[in-house]
Amino acid sequence: MLADPDSSPLAERWRQRDLSVLWHPCTQMREHPDTLPLVSIARGEGPWLVGHDGNRYLDAVSSWWTNLFGHAEPRIAAAVARQANQLEQVMLAGFTHEPAVELAERLLQVAPRQAGRAPLAKVFYADNGSAGVEVALKMAFHWFRNRGEDRRTRFVALENGYHGETLGALAVGDIPLYRRIYAPLLAEAMFAPSPDAYLAEEGQSAASRAHQAADALADLFDRHPGEICAVILEPRLQCAGGMRMHDPVYLRRARELCDANGAFLIADEIAAGFGRTGTMFACEQAGVMPDLLCLSKGLTGGFLPLSAVLTTQALYDGFLDDSRERAFLHSHSYTGNPLACAAALATLDIFASDDVITGNLGTAEAMRRLAAPFSDHPHVADVRQAGMVVAFELTRGGNRRTPFDPAARVGLHAYKAALRRGVVLRPLGDVLYWMPPYCIGDEQLDLLARTTLAAIDEAVACA
Ligand SMILES: *Cc1c(COP(=O)(O)O)cnc(C)c1O
Repeated sequence: MLADPDSSPLAERWRQRDLSVLWHPCTQMREHPDTLPLVSIARGEGPWLVGHDGNRYLDAVSSWWTNLFGHAEPRIAAAVARQANQLEQVMLAGFTHEPAVELAERLLQVAPRQAGRAPLAKVFYADNGSAGVEVALKMAFHWFRNRGEDRRTRFVALENGYHGETLGALAVGDIPLYRRIYAPLLAEAMFAPSPDAYLAEEGQSAASRAHQAADALADLFDRHPGEICAVILEPRLQCAGGMRMHDPVYLRRARELCDANGAFLIADEIAAGFGRTGTMFACEQAGVMPDLLCLSKGLTGGFLPLSAVLTTQALYDGFLDDSRERAFLHSHSYTGNPLACAAALATLDIFASDDVITGNLGTAEAMRRLAAPFSDHPHVADVRQAGMVVAFELTRGGNRRTPFDPAARVGLHAYKAALRRGVVLRPLGDVLYWMPPYCIGDEQLDLLARTTLAAIDEAVACA
């Protein structure tokens, strides 16, 4: 157990100043600080966050899935500092700069490819993941408008999917907690069944479940001929939906269905990209190239907000015309910010120089070994892994059909139990998961596994 954070005068001072002026994301503010601790962080170092209370916290969720190589990674920090002394910002309309150009070139080099398809060829920047999703949706819709295909106005998204919190992104998201209250404001999307392997029937394989979901997607296309402009999905891993995973065959089927029906495929790899699922991009596991690829989060190694939408020459060409109306006029003030691009370039350098994807194979194997015994835990219904992500589904008696009563707040109890032991595990409902920075070492993984067990035991005892 850690030193009692509440007894630290410095941490308490920051907490009080915070609560008098700040409104936090994804938080019922009334729960601070009595139900939900508010931890003040002084600095970060590798996989650790160091609190004003003097405690060290292992960041097992990579600060909302953004951090790749540890906090305050010196090479990225130096690149940002260099860039800050050179050019901090210039508008990207009518102007260009080295980091924006070089980053676009290098992203296109590492982007997923597919035999027989022209590779992704153009990059559009925005400044956070949700904004990137908005860009992709608007581009897909607008492309058909430019061709006079005015009936193509509908988006298909997956059940239990998540694409961000702005109104356009929420419209294609299916997580009731975030969506329900704003439903009257949202554009109407169609939702197809998720290929989520956790939803497979007793004895059904993940691949069979994926095919079943793809058949349902095919039905949806049949029932709405010429109406669907794009399918948007999170390849391989529905993150905010509880780290639910699916067989890559679904992506192949979705690609084929989009092609057969003349619709775009939008891959949202904002969370899954940059090595999280074991490959640089999750699409690679299906050998699929999307028409639009959304990237953010790990793009800058977790340093700065930036998103990029990669797309094809054919889609880009659909906007070339004498009319401004046909142009894609979407813009954000900080589009292609040089500091963020410099951080992203340093991130790509580290992938190359440290052979990160290969190095992660060993770490993922260690995670697999440490996670395996949890399958036998009486209240764990599922242990699943995709590369550098492991998830534990907690239910009463380990039965898939008997989730804990949400009012019991099992996840919250687990969160607090882990935090008291110096580990940041931030569950999604009753799903605990490991999504650590790639620099996590063996000792830290051991601490993570031990703490996870203690947190589960403590949490289920409260339920
Ligand atoms: C986090 C996330 C987003 C939204 O990104 P923000 O930067 O938080 O707006 C979109 N899609 C997926 C899959 C995400 O995980």
